[in-house]
Amino acid sequence: MDASAELLVDFHTHSHYSDGVLSPAALVERAHARNVGTLALTDHDTVAGLDEARAACDAAGMRFVAGVELSAQWRGQPIHVVGLQVDPAHAAFGAHLAGVLARRRTRLAEIGERLEKRGRLPGRELAALAATTAAPTRLHLARLLVERGHAGDTQEAFDRWLNKDKAGHVPAEWPALSDAMAVLRDSGALPVLAHPHRYRLSAGGLRELVAAFVQDGGVALEASMAGMSPNDADRIASLCRRFKLLASMGSDFHDPAVPWNPLGRWLKLAAGLEPVTDRLTATR
Ligand code: AMP
Ligand code: MN
Ligand code: MN
Ligand code: MN
Repeated sequence: MDASAELLVDFHTHSHYSDGVLSPAALVERAHARNVGTLALTDHDTVAGLDEARAACDAAGMRFVAGVELSAQWRGQPIHVVGLQVDPAHAAFGAHLAGVLARRRTRLAEIGERLEKRGRLPGRELAALAATTAAPTRLHLARLLVERGHAGDTQEAFDRWLNKDKAGHVPAEWPALSDAMAVLRDSGALPVLAHPHRYRLSAGGLRELVAAFVQDGGVALEASMAGMSPNDADRIASLCRRFKLLASMGSDFHDPAVPWNPLGRWLKLAAGLEPVTDRLTATR
């Protein structure tokens, strides 16, 4: 490895415990091969893969950060908050995850029913198949719809069957952003606003979201993401400076077959931005 390789980090990744396709061990192996030195596993609403990922990172000599990506809601919109240095043994945090996972399962069953009745698809069967994972998501259903020939790819499956106004649309109804933030804070995790450039919000709306996030104890914005345009990077960097937030960086990697978000980001940031790595403790 050359010296610059030590600078690669990734604070946003998924394994097959949520909607990623790799096992934690395979994810770590791939990250290692790409010169990632510090890796967080941040599955949607579950900590089920953390022990495996930590063991694999230890074996590979990589620094591991226990993480999660919480599903939340703000002004009727789904918002994702990454928690870094989560404590899986914290009771209130565990109870919060259990509640979200229960909602994931009922939502998936409701989507299955709708696909069956309104879409004339084997929705119940597909929902039952999707529900076999720790944190079932709509992406699981989308992949099954592709597998069965009901869509050409997952994007089409969303557009045709799962998005708003389609046969299988069921509103998410996640916990309020302030509740997700409170449980991260109370359990000692660092809250990071996930992919702020991807929400469908006006500039003013995004500013209000970030203000609410700061009010609730948020510490960082994902300011360097795979697939981010220079314009988006500028917008988010400005928000970091304005609200005195740290910058996090990650790929949001799900699947080796998706080429646009490979594992690993540079630690180098735009002027005036401080990396969230400064706030991570040596342990956990
Ligand atoms: P859920 O949290 O169950 O609503 O599922 C959302 C997951 O599906 C996200 O984390 C993405 O990985 C994926 N996803 C959401 N929308 C789309 C889309 N339009 N096309 C492809 N994947 C999507
Ligand atoms: Mn996902
Ligand atoms: Mn997300
Ligand atoms: Mn993600």
